[in-house]
Amino acid sequence: MATATLTIDLDAIAANWRALDRMSDPTTQTAAVVKADAYGLGSKRVVRALAEAGARRFFVAVAEEGAAVRQALGPGPQINVLGGHMAGDTEMIHDLDLTPMLNSVEQITRHLESLPGHPFGIQLDTGMNRLGLEAPEWEAVAPLVLEQGPELVMSHLACADEPDHPMNAAQLAEFHAMTDGIGVPRSLAATGGILLGPEFHFELTRPGVGLYGGRPHGDARPVVGLALPIIQVREIAPGEIVGYSCGYTATQPRLIATVAAGYADGLTRRYSNQATLWDGDVPCPIVGRVSMDLITVDVSHLHNLPRTLDILGPMQGVDDLADIAGTIGYEVLTSLGHRYTRRYVSAATHGQV
Ligand SMILES: *Cc1c(COP(=O)(O)O)cnc(C)c1O
Repeated sequence: MATATLTIDLDAIAANWRALDRMSDPTTQTAAVVKADAYGLGSKRVVRALAEAGARRFFVAVAEEGAAVRQALGPGPQINVLGGHMAGDTEMIHDLDLTPMLNSVEQITRHLESLPGHPFGIQLDTGMNRLGLEAPEWEAVAPLVLEQGPELVMSHLACADEPDHPMNAAQLAEFHAMTDGIGVPRSLAATGGILLGPEFHFELTRPGVGLYGGRPHGDARPVVGLALPIIQVREIAPGEIVGYSCGYTATQPRLIATVAAGYADGLTRRYSNQATLWDGDVPCPIVGRVSMDLITVDVSHLHNLPRTLDILGPMQGVDDLADIAGTIGYEVLTSLGHRYTRRYVSAATHGQV
């Protein structure tokens, strides 16, 4: 079979959630952010594992993602929609019992008029300038909104991955100024905010990337493995080239393996001549260009040819790949393609599930 295998360790996701949960006071609820199909790992399996670990509130980006999470979890757990209540979402929000985080006066009006009495939360902008009501808008509508009993008031930090950035304290102060005394549960921290310390935790935290093994949750257990099958191996002589645009020229005799995955599978062309695949703990450099479906690798030094080579695994995590590509672990995860054979692993279900 020439499709690569993406292994997703559900126990590691659960352990990462528990570890992040332990970082805040027991009275602080730890939610789980599962937007973008649980950061590309498959929200159906991931949310069930998280619910089993104890998560009771889930955040998605848009209502359609919330529908998938509701189908996976059934009634009970709360599902918050960060994009709020958009025109056309009313039925879905009602039927699937989603909680929109209302971002604007327009959304507040839409929600209170179309679904009076239906749960909602409020998103405030404390300086990121992306989503949420700004201070003067909030001041104008707060009395009316608070009368309707929002479940949660939240804001989002722009620079939480940089603990010393002055923006963190500035946004914390602004959040206090906008919300002190309202008597509604509050949330400011995602993964980075949890690590900033207890004054950022409030009543609810919202970790995402830290669940999936990414920075800035440095102690996270790795979650994903990606093994690429070798399709063919050939010897090349000095002076021969490999791949598109003659991206590599051999200076010595080399043994080149061609593996089955490429940029169509989320393995960016930036890995060309840069990234490394692994046979266990033995590095095998990518030589030449990454193409759509194939990558060429120097395996001259291997004594026994394996069936597969790892691009994600114990020797190389999502952040290592991100550093090579000049991006972040979030993008590596959410770029993982749809052609992989996905294997969800969990000890509770005796290995492969
Ligand atoms: C994505 C997101 C999160 C989760 O952030 P991580 O850095 O992945 O922990 C939390 N809150 C909001 C508003 C988000 O957009």
